[in-house]
Amino acid sequence: MRHTRSSISRFIFLNASREVNGDVAPRRWIGFGSMMADRYGDHWSRDELILALYLYCQIPFAKTKANNPEVIRLSNVIGRTPASVARKLGNFGAFDPLLAKRGISGLAHTGRADKRIWDEFRDRWDALVEESARLLSTSSAPGADLEGGSSALPSEDERIITRPTGPSERRAAVTVRLFQSFFRRTVLASYDSACSVCGLDVRSLLIASHIKPWSIDESSRIEPENGLCLCAIHDRAFDRGLIAVSEGFRLIVSSTIVASKQPFVRTAITDFRDHPLRMPTRFAPRPDFLEWHRQNVFGRGIREPLITIPESVLTPPWPPA
Ligand SMILES: [Zn+2]
Repeated sequence: MRHTRSSISRFIFLNASREVNGDVAPRRWIGFGSMMADRYGDHWSRDELILALYLYCQIPFAKTKANNPEVIRLSNVIGRTPASVARKLGNFGAFDPLLAKRGISGLAHTGRADKRIWDEFRDRWDALVEESARLLSTSSAPGADLEGGSSALPSEDERIITRPTGPSERRAAVTVRLFQSFFRRTVLASYDSACSVCGLDVRSLLIASHIKPWSIDESSRIEPENGLCLCAIHDRAFDRGLIAVSEGFRLIVSSTIVASKQPFVRTAITDFRDHPLRMPTRFAPRPDFLEWHRQNVFGRGIREPLITIPESVLTPPWPPA
């Protein structure tokens, strides 16, 4: 056992074992009063579970530990110990099919309440983000400030699409930023912050790329399984239909790229042809999204013409009604 041998830690650890069935009547720990406002044995409320799931998605599973600053920050917001939060994040790992495939089953003892939250938000990521934002906005705890860039589940510096002009626009901009931030953080965490084609791991050069773009399918705009972690070059190539991913999760390279004799094009793209994709630890790319990309984007460049068409050709000779 890696836990310290102090009686306090032992007591906490023992108490934790009673919490494992989730819905079992909680035992409140009264032994050490304010010295450890632990609540380890308490029943987790729905709101606490929502925030825990929100954080679970956004940090790599291997980092769901009590010493992770983000775990500590959330523990401050909800008034639990970091160990208790880390344990709850571990519980969510038990429901993750990809982790299960790799033989990582999360903590074995999950509760019905954990499963209910997982099932409720599994396909409703927008709702998870919105609900979490609402909960954090009503908390006065340090670290719960969503707009100050230091929320319990901190956002990265994301571009805000909408420029706010009034209170409602400002709210909308914050929501968009939270959506973008959730998607980016969740996708990057799933791929351990490395390009799924070349393995480049410079975070500022990585993009959470949509397989099916937001403009085509708004309902999947922040679905983690609609994301691929790609470096700037491979994101662009994917977006323009110069590369795709096969049914067997291998890289397909367009004939345009293969025909290039330029050494850098070969090194950066062509040499990865037929290489297996670096698969994520969680939220594997959904085959139907990849299929859609192969059918509609690969080799077509639908998002923007590869050849620039002069404006005069695109503009009809008569004014629109
Ligand atoms: Zn790359």
